[in-house]
Amino acid sequence: MNTNMNNTNNIHCKNLVDKYDVILLDAFGVLVNNFGAIPGAKEFLQLLHSKNKPYYILTNGASKLPSTMSKFFKSRGLDINEEKIITSGSIIANYFKQNNLVAKNTIVLGTDDSNAYLKLAGANIVPITPPSTDHTTDFESIIPNSFSWSDIEVLALCDECGYPFLSYVDQVLSIIIQKIEHNQKIELILANPDLYYPKGLDNYGITTGVMAKIFENTIYERYLNNPISSDIDIKNIPKFVNVGKPSSMIFEQAYQLSKTKNMLMIGDQLNTDILGANNFGIDSLFVGTGVGDIRPLLSSSLSSSHSQYPTPTYIKKDLLS
Ligand SMILES: [Mg+2]
Repeated sequence: MNTNMNNTNNIHCKNLVDKYDVILLDAFGVLVNNFGAIPGAKEFLQLLHSKNKPYYILTNGASKLPSTMSKFFKSRGLDINEEKIITSGSIIANYFKQNNLVAKNTIVLGTDDSNAYLKLAGANIVPITPPSTDHTTDFESIIPNSFSWSDIEVLALCDECGYPFLSYVDQVLSIIIQKIEHNQKIELILANPDLYYPKGLDNYGITTGVMAKIFENTIYERYLNNPISSDIDIKNIPKFVNVGKPSSMIFEQAYQLSKTKNMLMIGDQLNTDILGANNFGIDSLFVGTGVGDIRPLLSSSLSSSHSQYPTPTYIKKDLLS
């Protein structure tokens, strides 16, 4: 892979696309934020369309099916069809098959579309409902009476929206702890490891990566920072499996469709978009229109001191540069 740190601004984005057979684009921070299309996104897509350049949207998230996401883009003036959209939600189905999770009892934290992703994966979804009161003493009151905590086999953490956040998080945490205390396994799946996203200029929102840290830090504090009871099998202390970027699973999906590794990943986050591209062995373009700060990396005097961070092949202020 090229590293082009000293030559990042010499080639315009519109010429850069000619070097690659396929372009991969992150969504939030590259094409859109909560307020609409990011300046340059529409022009860049028009360029790809005019050149007949194959492209895919590679987005961490399981809150919207590709069909919903396509409508979301079109409502913001971006003409992107659903078959161009690869979400981490759509990776869950493969993960379920490969890890014998089909038909397992699954709790889904997310939207209606998140539930649809898990249904497509073959999960047996355990429906959850808000507890009658936040002060309930029944830690498993979000699941139906026909199930108990011991029946739950998978937690799919898909989105931070679509449910009463704190009461669900508290109850799911309690169920995970019961499972550990009784030496039962529970699979934890994370669709979006991003910690935060750009809602708009100077506006940020948390994403499920933060929630996974809440669960994991609490579990580690309880078990790994303390003498572990001899009754607890350390193998059953769960950790989230991330199916989104930087995991190669989502890049592999793009590769299956494109059949070439001559792809350029365009993203706004070093630890997901750029690291994922580096791990998969493809070039990357880091843009400054999202949450990632490109300024330290643009300073060549600082670039060597930032070498502990994933290094993009190119850095641009935006897609118009
Ligand atoms: Mg992004």
